[in-house]
Amino acid sequence: MRERRRVKLCGRCDKPMQDGEYEAYVNHSPTGASATVYLHKELCKRPPTQTVSVPDRPRR
Ligand SMILES: [Zn+2]
Repeated sequence: MRERRRVKLCGRCDKPMQDGEYEAYVNHSPTGASATVYLHKELCKRPPTQTVSVPDRPRR
């Protein structure tokens, strides 16, 4: 299954990202379902209200 080409929102700073600006990460949630999240390749600032934990290792 391929990702559709559309604007993605950063899972950390919640800002839109262009192609090539983001990397995919797998986020394992406590419920057992793993979801793919997209984060800026370059470190961006996480909003202080953000409580979702994000893995710091890229998926290979
Ligand atoms: Zn970001």
